[in-house]
Amino acid sequence: MVKVEYTAENVAKCQCTSCPVQAESECFKGRLRRMQEMISEDVDIASIIEAENVPGLYCSTGKASCTDLDAHQICKCGECPIWTEYGLNKGEPGSYFM
Ligand code: SF4
Repeated sequence: MVKVEYTAENVAKCQCTSCPVQAESECFKGRLRRMQEMISEDVDIASIIEAENVPGLYCSTGKASCTDLDAHQICKCGECPIWTEYGLNKGEPGSYFM
C-alpha cells in the first residue's frame, strides 16, 4: 500500500483547506488561522509540519484530526494532485478520512 509522505510540499498541494467537508468546522478554522499566522510570521513551515498543526493531508495520517466535520458535503480529495500522484483511488478509505 502506498504511503503519502508528510512533507511541506505535499501540504502545499493538499486541497483540504478549501474542502466543503471542513468548511463549517470550528476546529479546522482555528488550525487554519494558526497556520496562516505562523506563515505570516515567517515561521519555517518545516517546524510546524505536525499533524496537529496542519488542517489537511489526512491521506498521510489516515484520519482527520478534527472531529466536527460534515460527511454530507462533497470531499475534494478526487480533485487533488496528491490523489492522482499516489493513486489513492485504489486505497482505503479512499477519501473522507474521518
Ligand atoms: S488527497 Fe485529500 S487528504 Fe490527501 S492531500 Fe489531497 S485533499 Fe488532502
